[in-house]
Amino acid sequence: MYKVVIGLEVHSELKTNTKCFCSCENKFGGKPNTHCCPVCVGMPGALPVLNQKAVEYAIKAGLSVGCRINEYSVFERKNYFYPDLAKAYQISQLEYPLCVGGGVEIDVDGKKKFVRLNRIHLEEDAGKLVHTKEGTMIDYNRGGVPLIEIVSEPDLESAEEAVAYLQKLRATLLYLGVSDCKMQEGSLRCDVNLSLHKEGEPFGTRTEMKNLNSFKAVFRAIKYEAKRQEEELDAGRKIIQETRRWDDNAGKSYSMRTKEDAQDYRYFPDPDIIPIEVEKTFIEEIRKNLPKLADDRAKDYVEKLGLTENDAKLLTNEKYVSDYFEETIKYFNEPKFVCNWILGEVFKKLNSLDDESAEIGISAQNMAKLLKLYHSDSIGQKVARNLLDELWGTDLDPEQVVKEKGLMQNNDTSGLEEIIKKIMNNNPKAVNELKSGNQKTMAFFVGQAMKATSGKANPKLVNEIVSKLIK
Ligand code: ADP
Ligand code: MG
Ligand code: ZN
Repeated sequence: MYKVVIGLEVHSELKTNTKCFCSCENKFGGKPNTHCCPVCVGMPGALPVLNQKAVEYAIKAGLSVGCRINEYSVFERKNYFYPDLAKAYQISQLEYPLCVGGGVEIDVDGKKKFVRLNRIHLEEDAGKLVHTKEGTMIDYNRGGVPLIEIVSEPDLESAEEAVAYLQKLRATLLYLGVSDCKMQEGSLRCDVNLSLHKEGEPFGTRTEMKNLNSFKAVFRAIKYEAKRQEEELDAGRKIIQETRRWDDNAGKSYSMRTKEDAQDYRYFPDPDIIPIEVEKTFIEEIRKNLPKLADDRAKDYVEKLGLTENDAKLLTNEKYVSDYFEETIKYFNEPKFVCNWILGEVFKKLNSLDDESAEIGISAQNMAKLLKLYHSDSIGQKVARNLLDELWGTDLDPEQVVKEKGLMQNNDTSGLEEIIKKIMNNNPKAVNELKSGNQKTMAFFVGQAMKATSGKANPKLVNEIVSKLIK
């Protein structure tokens, strides 16, 4: 039996207005090579100037995960040739990164674990190669966009833990508002380092996997690589330290190149950029203004809104869900009811979409209206569920739809009583069964009443009336 050891290198693009070392717009997409200038396409003689906001965002990220902030840090040139990198070096940090240490707590199936971080450093992104029929094109719009690289210690031991760690990091960066963290757009990227060893023995040789564009890809790539290495070792072969490319369609990884070491990149301090000296007051100002993160919000939900710890945790895993919940209860102040609905029906709907980047398809205001109708028994559970489907992705007003389609629940007691009496007269056998204590027959009456009212009878009311009538 082998033990799996995983360390992740996570790259996250910072949401600054301008790029890291020039004043070009920092924005995803756009016509190729329109967000560019002599600095970010690496014209000889063009000089970089550091974007203070990028430093601030990187520190923000560092503080939120308990890093120590280096008051003195240095940009270095990481030299390599690739067409998406016009200067033939990337401005990065090696010896003196901006943030060191810290860590993230993850929770997998109730088992808590602290994953240590090695460092967070600031660097620039490269351009993008676009492969077409005519040939490969280069788009430098992304070149020079500020990135933080978050390097974990090799503390992760399974695909489940790696994904939980990634999710926690992503949520934290989203709560901070420093990055969009869209894996499909590449604003959050992750390299997986993985090795196997036997209990009691030193760590094995690792491989590094690239091109992982979703949590699912990370999960599958880890399972695949752990198995591949196991088979290699069992066959008596050695693991080669190499970089591998994950092909998500094929469900396989392929060797790209043998792994390079730091010295291969001939790092040296960039003579064009003076070292960063961060004042203590600058750091303290950022610390003071850190927003509430998931755990703080969850604590509030338990203490101020009376939710259970588990529900509070589920609601705050993702910032946009937590924001959505808070907005919905502004319009309809029934936290427990709203929470149950979001964690139940809304999550079920989201899961059914099978799209990691899908968000809730109904505005908080309309959701509040729908829930008010349901809470006040104006519509039944089934209608409420159908409405969720129907309104998803639209701006339709639930009240209007309910009115137009005549979906109001029938709460008219005397009208229902007539209908139920008729059903009882037609089904004397069922009445006798119910009288003799067979509660299962109740479902039959509710079903019949629903049928007679095209699903609009209030089942609670039907239950009450039937019970009253058989006495
Ligand atoms: P490099 O810059 O060459 O990729 P680093 O020392 O920065 O190397 O490590 C990169 C990542 O590899 C880190 O996340 C680290 O935790 C992980 N790592 C280091 N050794 C191992 C190992 N034996 N098995 C799995 N992961 C490892
Ligand atoms: Mg690496
Ligand atoms: Zn530029």
